[in-house]
Amino acid sequence: MSETINLASKIEKQLPAELVNFMQVAGEVAASQGQSLYLVGGVVRDLLLGRTNFDLDLVVEGNAIDLARQLIETKQGKIATYPRFNTAKLEWNKWSVDLATARSETYAKPGALPSVKPSPIDKDLFRRDFTINTMAIYLNPSRYGELIDLYGGREDLEHKLIRILHQKSFIDDATRIWRGLRYEQRLNFQLEPNTLRLLQRDIPMLDTISGDRIRYELECILQEEFPEKILRRAKELGVLAKLHPSLKGNGWLTEKFKQARQLSSPNLPPVGLYLVLLTYSLSDEENEHLISYLRLPKALAQTLRDSISLKSKLQSLADPELTPSNIYYLLHGYSPPAIVANSLASDSPVARQHIQLFLNKLRYVKLALTGDDLKRIGITPGPKIKEILKLLHEARLDGKVTSKRGEEDLIKGRGEN
Ligand code: ATP
Ligand code: MG
Repeated sequence: MSETINLASKIEKQLPAELVNFMQVAGEVAASQGQSLYLVGGVVRDLLLGRTNFDLDLVVEGNAIDLARQLIETKQGKIATYPRFNTAKLEWNKWSVDLATARSETYAKPGALPSVKPSPIDKDLFRRDFTINTMAIYLNPSRYGELIDLYGGREDLEHKLIRILHQKSFIDDATRIWRGLRYEQRLNFQLEPNTLRLLQRDIPMLDTISGDRIRYELECILQEEFPEKILRRAKELGVLAKLHPSLKGNGWLTEKFKQARQLSSPNLPPVGLYLVLLTYSLSDEENEHLISYLRLPKALAQTLRDSISLKSKLQSLADPELTPSNIYYLLHGYSPPAIVANSLASDSPVARQHIQLFLNKLRYVKLALTGDDLKRIGITPGPKIKEILKLLHEARLDGKVTSKRGEEDLIKGRGEN
């Protein structure tokens, strides 16, 4: 028999007191109703690894929605319930906790969403993707802190292995292919040999997954600390080609992703910029294909289109003779991530300088005078106004005028009133 491991002191040390307190109370409430409550999944894995993770996932052998309602009563918080899955989400202060009813899953066909039914915890843990995610911690007071490790999670964690639970795992749900690569690269683990073999064998099963679910996986990847590692591995194994056959996960991408991070605020992954860089080598047509496959939201789709359209202007942007207003008219209207991506991709220092000038300065240049001011000066309302405003803006961009007074003088000088 294996020893009992108690993680109560790790919980105490690694999680904020408010969450620890919440779990203890939750365990007491569940116990008072004869139900068992567990902390499960990623947070247990990360507790053992000493990695920060405050996303609590709780599973109850009982009724998650009822329990969630009782627990939120004492807090100023929000509750959302999902009766179809008998799960609930609690949010208060800066915390968010997911509560689920222990369940098992069966897959009617590959890639479909599973049908679920209430089950004991062992089955709930067995339906999970990898052994390192199957561990749970008992929260009832009588066994508080006790680790439940039914499928060898702790051993795999120690050996740094990503291992599926059964041979059909990737067939049931091929999103696990992407998830596996994500954990492997995030944690610097390795896919256990049999898992790796099955992963490669089942790559075609990615065709059974909806574009929406693939997009979600891609978003998760791009929110990782080093997405390029996952993309490179995906390229190497032939997984990236399933997203689009022309995508590259090479050294260029690694280099550009690094630069993209340096430009962005810490702790805020530049997801849009990453995506533009990833798809940078696609043709117009390939790009459209990817957009509709992933059903990208409008704004993101536009960013990708902007990037392609800007690519054809890079050569013009490399002309050292350009005036600031020339630069402005080449770049304005394009989404910033598309512009930044093109700057990162360009080999021309001049083009990059011009783009920097636009991003740091030109795009913010504003006129002092408004259309109403012009009317007041006596200019006839109509297309003329627009024309003059554009002229003034151009003069501002090129530094020919620098003040309201200057703008007025320019109009007078042209004899516009
Ligand atoms: P992360 O740190 O990336 O959030 P996590 O382990 O918390 O890791 P989630 O995506 O939040 O991962 O999912 C919570 C748990 O649900 C996982 O630990 C895993 O046990 C299970 N799970 C999620 N997606 C799947 C899937 N496609 N197949 C099987 N189990 C899954
Ligand atoms: Mg999670």
